[in-house]
Amino acid sequence: MKKFGVIIKEALPTLGKKPFTILYPFERVPVPEKLRGKPVLDTEKCRGCKVCICEKVCPAEACKKITIGDEVERLAFWYDRCVFCGECAERCPWGAVSMTNEFELAAYDIESLYGHPEFPKSEEALEYIEKLRERKRMKQQKAKEAKAAKAAQEAKEAKPTQEAKEAEEEKAPENKEAAKEQPKEDEQ
Ligand code: SF4
Ligand code: SF4
Repeated sequence: MKKFGVIIKEALPTLGKKPFTILYPFERVPVPEKLRGKPVLDTEKCRGCKVCICEKVCPAEACKKITIGDEVERLAFWYDRCVFCGECAERCPWGAVSMTNEFELAAYDIESLYGHPEFPKSEEALEYIEKLRERKRMKQQKAKEAKAAKAAQEAKEAKPTQEAKEAEEEKAPENKEAAKEQPKEDEQ
């Protein structure tokens, strides 16, 4: 009842006001101009540098320089991993990467979050995807093993305490006997 009073108290001042929420995705609010959304590559500007600094600085392993066709090397993105930090755009010495304010990247298929429409899914890219997946699997496996090891360690530590308690309980009658005999010895 108290909570109902609180709700009424908060609701009353908003009566007659327009709703704050909108019917997304049918209605939209303009996004800030500097919103960091999907990074994109300008293929004209990308020089396929021997050491791609964008690839090096990416904290999420979301971009990698891949070979397309025979010799062309370009930066490709894995948007399912991208954290939209903007490091690649900031560090590319040739200004080939820019951040757009496109943020609606939800997809049914993880594969569709790969790269750039202009890039084919090269063997190298597919290998890289597989490598990332394998690394994720290994990480999950390690976490699972670590959890199991911790549980086993905790159980091991708890066991001696239990054993000690049981031993104590076993000794208890003997101790009582000893306590009874003690005064007799003292009397002598
Ligand atoms: S994205 Fe920039 S740093 Fe990376 S290969 Fe292209 S031009 Fe070089
Ligand atoms: S925005 Fe950040 S996470 Fe995404 S590709 Fe660039 S460096 Fe990597």
